[in-house]
Amino acid sequence: MGYFGTVYQAIKTICVGLRVTLPYSFGRTVVTQYPDVPPTVKPQTRGFHRYEIERCIACEICAKACPVDCITVKKSGPRKYDKDRRVAVGGAMTAYTIDYNMCLFCGLCTDGCPTECIHMGNIHDASCYDRGDLVVDYIQLAKQGRRSVQPIWMKKPQHAAWVDDVDTVWSSQIDAARRQWMARANDPDYCKSLAETQAVGGKEGAKGE
Ligand code: SF4
Ligand code: SF4
Repeated sequence: MGYFGTVYQAIKTICVGLRVTLPYSFGRTVVTQYPDVPPTVKPQTRGFHRYEIERCIACEICAKACPVDCITVKKSGPRKYDKDRRVAVGGAMTAYTIDYNMCLFCGLCTDGCPTECIHMGNIHDASCYDRGDLVVDYIQLAKQGRRSVQPIWMKKPQHAAWVDDVDTVWSSQIDAARRQWMARANDPDYCKSLAETQAVGGKEGAKGE
């Protein structure tokens, strides 16, 4: 290709590129001032997990399905699902962690869960200052009455008003009785007493529910 041919090709290439980018220069601005403005997420978003600890039987199917081995599940003894009370009884949950340094958000862990207690949530942001904080301990979250992660900026005293609304919606989805089940799912004595109640045929539920 001669000199002028090369120049022509260069100009043509630039024009092709600008044909895509130029319209954006004059189009409507679509940048969202997050976190001052709430993000828009689609219903099918695969965000940070939502975990219902009180229904988890610690079968480890999710951990085995995970292609990057980022889920850790531990229990103090066998747990089984009580369909009447819609909770797991038996041993206590001693660990349920997901390492988000590795997670692909593929959703494979949710597909095989026999009690449908692990879901892909709609939180898309787990900002933090330390990579270690991306190893999320869902048992600790359950003790705080939470089912999913909370980005650090949401915990700050000053934040956008919409964050309080989101927090209220999240909280209202878990009633007081469920919070008790959540908090006690890692209490060995309590889980054992639930199992014993079931063994003697008691279905009226444990104290506090
Ligand atoms: S597959 Fe479901 S029930 Fe089994 S350990 Fe995972 S979250 Fe718990
Ligand atoms: S979303 Fe995929 S990568 Fe993440 S924990 Fe579940 S199975 Fe593993």
